[in-house]
Amino acid sequence: MTTIKDIRELSYPELVDYCLSINEPDYRATQIFEWIYQKSTSSFDEMRNLSETLKNQLNKDFVFKPLDIEKKEVSEDGTTKFLFNLDDGQRVETVLIPAKTRTTVCVSTQAGCKFGCKFCASGIGGWTRNLATAEILAQILHVKEESLKHKKPLSHVVFMGVGEPLDNFDYLMKAIRMINNKKALNIGARRITVSTCGVIPKIHDLGKQGLQIELAISLHGFDNDSRNVLMPVNKKYPFNELMKACREYIKSTKRQITFEYILIKDVTCSNEAVQSLKKAFQGMICKMNLIPYNPVKEFDHQTPTRQEIYQFKDQLEKFGVHATVRMPRGRDISGACGQLRLRQ
Ligand code: SF4
Repeated sequence: MTTIKDIRELSYPELVDYCLSINEPDYRATQIFEWIYQKSTSSFDEMRNLSETLKNQLNKDFVFKPLDIEKKEVSEDGTTKFLFNLDDGQRVETVLIPAKTRTTVCVSTQAGCKFGCKFCASGIGGWTRNLATAEILAQILHVKEESLKHKKPLSHVVFMGVGEPLDNFDYLMKAIRMINNKKALNIGARRITVSTCGVIPKIHDLGKQGLQIELAISLHGFDNDSRNVLMPVNKKYPFNELMKACREYIKSTKRQITFEYILIKDVTCSNEAVQSLKKAFQGMICKMNLIPYNPVKEFDHQTPTRQEIYQFKDQLEKFGVHATVRMPRGRDISGACGQLRLRQ
């Protein structure tokens, strides 16, 4: 049995090839892309400048429909979290994060996650499958529409939802090129962030893509032992090797890396941690996002006090690391990744 492809699986050159193969001119590809990515249509029948013959052919050859929403929750701070049902019964979460100067969508790349970071709800039920490029793009298209309703056009995309983005490398790369493509979503590469828990071979592969995107490393530990406790991936890709891969990435791409670091009282927020990070970051130009721990009941630890958080930040800044405290958004709607899906 051949499954019919979602049209959002096709890159622009692939769509041009398709149009030519059915004896349509190549400009049809531009028109179809405009309907999908700029006018946010949700069916071929709405594409008014296409002939009936072409619409019928598209309906025969491709699937094209919006994602099915199971749940939508809006936080007091405006963060909106969506739970979508996929065709095979899997569910994914996507978050719209409005802020003063930007509107960001946080996108999922896998149904579940195999990496099992201890503080994260996404790894608890395990991994089921990779999301297809079309499923990744459909999340963004939905949130783009929602952001327009609030007159806050979508400006940034972060791959920090459910799943390890670099573990779904090929579909992710294809999605990124579509997000960046002027004929598709036209979001600048520097407004696209990929976050990884530290899959070293894929960091090397990413460095060879020639993309000007932002890379964020979920570090969450200050040395090998602390990272082993929180991030099982560290057993395969240890702390020192990860830092070496980051230095190589920075050297080859000339791009800065952002390190995400969770602040857990007496675990990662300590003087010992500061001293170890000082050594690890020596000579590296980087940014650090400090994220106060958002408790999940499966991981019984505490958030540091405000004073402890800012002391930690000040100490990092003293040795030249530009650190920012990021308060988790949408706490009242289970804002940490994977939590809405788990609560069902
Ligand atoms: S933090 Fe990311 S990589 Fe780690 S378990 Fe959660 S979704 Fe997976």
